[in-house]
Amino acid sequence: IRILGIETSCDETAASIVKNGKEIMSNVVNSQIRVHQQFGGVVPEVASRKHIQNIVMVVHTAFAEAGMSYDDIDAVAVTNRPGLIGALLVGVSFAKSFAYALNKPLIAVNHLYGHIYANFLEHDNIEFPLVCLVVSGGHTSLLFMQDIENYEVIGETLDDAAGEAFDKVARFLGLGYPGGPAVERAAEKGVKGRYQLPRVFLDRDDFDFSFSGLKTAAMNLWTKMERRGEANVYDMAAEFQAALVEVLAVKTARAAEKYKARSILLAGGVAANSELRRAAQIEADRLGIKLYYPSLKLCTDNAAMIAGSAYHKFINGQFASLDLNAYATMSML
Ligand code: ATP
Ligand code: MG
Ligand code: FE
Repeated sequence: IRILGIETSCDETAASIVKNGKEIMSNVVNSQIRVHQQFGGVVPEVASRKHIQNIVMVVHTAFAEAGMSYDDIDAVAVTNRPGLIGALLVGVSFAKSFAYALNKPLIAVNHLYGHIYANFLEHDNIEFPLVCLVVSGGHTSLLFMQDIENYEVIGETLDDAAGEAFDKVARFLGLGYPGGPAVERAAEKGVKGRYQLPRVFLDRDDFDFSFSGLKTAAMNLWTKMERRGEANVYDMAAEFQAALVEVLAVKTARAAEKYKARSILLAGGVAANSELRRAAQIEADRLGIKLYYPSLKLCTDNAAMIAGSAYHKFINGQFASLDLNAYATMSML
């Protein structure tokens, strides 16, 4: 079974063909980062326009790289939630037209489920039950999963997402967009602990997060240090990253312990962060369980995770009709 996946929920126009939910035949990602950089963040209207300009070429390239023709696919899968509504609609409209023209079934995929599925694309025999930390630009949630289709949200951020906090602090510190990689690079040259930032909610025994206060604390401290002439952007980046990562890793491990998980998964753009990967690995080793995260290319937005996760829906006959709509927000999965 070969499925074409299409992803346009934010600022990446992506198309990919995946065989049997496992074998990536092609994975094309056209990033708009350079377009949005000049504005310091994603401009929704610009993102939609860029998707319209790029989608045909990106899909064409996905077929060319797979060495396949249109008739070789068995279904068309598309991200229809959550994301920027105008951006999503470009992918959904394209996918509907394409599926209709080729007379192939259409499958709707939740972007966040795609992020989680990236782990199953690359790793075999992941053991359930597991705890999955979804950390991306718009979401931060802890999930308990009994198997690949059954999950329960056991905690989430009450305000900013982790990636959002990275992006906002990076912008404030003048480190540029996207903020996560910029903060990570700056942090490598700094020392954590020279500044002190709070480990928010680490003292609570639930699995919720809050990053808005951490962001504000970082900004206030930065302003104070600048006034004193003691501002060091590298040390600030290192401490901010450490504060955020410690809370994520420790609370994920606590959840894994409580729910007797056999594995921990990291998913979403922030799972690309090497400090988070390192901290989570230490926790998983301590618990004697396995840690999984996708390779860098599959952590951030891509269509392979969409085409891959659609395989199970194909097998279960969960198809979408041609009146499929896009939704900007939608509860977890
Ligand atoms: P969502 O998936 O919630 O809809 P999104 O698709 O915009 O949001 P992703 O593409 O999954 O988010 O991830 C992008 C986010 O990941 C950005 O906030 C970015 O700063 C962050 N990110 C990317 N690389 C890193 C890194 N190395 N360290 C920390 N954060 C990172
Ligand atoms: Mg993006
Ligand atoms: Fe994403």
